[in-house]
Amino acid sequence: MVRKNPASVPVPASDPAPAPASDPAPAQPLHVVATAPARRGTRHIPASVRRAVFDRDGGRCSYRDDRGERCRETLGLEAHHRHAHALGGPATLDNLELRCRAHNTLAAERDFGLEYTDFARGVTDRAAPERR
Ligand SMILES: [Zn+2]
Repeated sequence: MVRKNPASVPVPASDPAPAPASDPAPAQPLHVVATAPARRGTRHIPASVRRAVFDRDGGRCSYRDDRGERCRETLGLEAHHRHAHALGGPATLDNLELRCRAHNTLAAERDFGLEYTDFARGVTDRAAPERR
């Protein structure tokens, strides 16, 4: 299996290096690799999960507009939590998808409100509203 290089999806340096090519262990099916446990209470996404999300989404933003057309952005992609991390959403393949910055911000506005995302981006100096 040939994997695309998810170079635009940052991988934390703390992730273990991939096994050397001489490793006799057989390749695991993607769904097994993609279920690596995430660290609870952190925003860490295991490298294996990031790669699986990148492969599944084809290295492209997964946002679809009202007409069903998918965004074509392939640069600056971020891992979007379908069920927000701040609300307990896990870092799993089923809960993550690739989003460009603009569409990830749009999702955050829908989850938390424009006032909160403006505060997070430093657009306003008003105090952030309480989370729901
Ligand atoms: Zn997009």
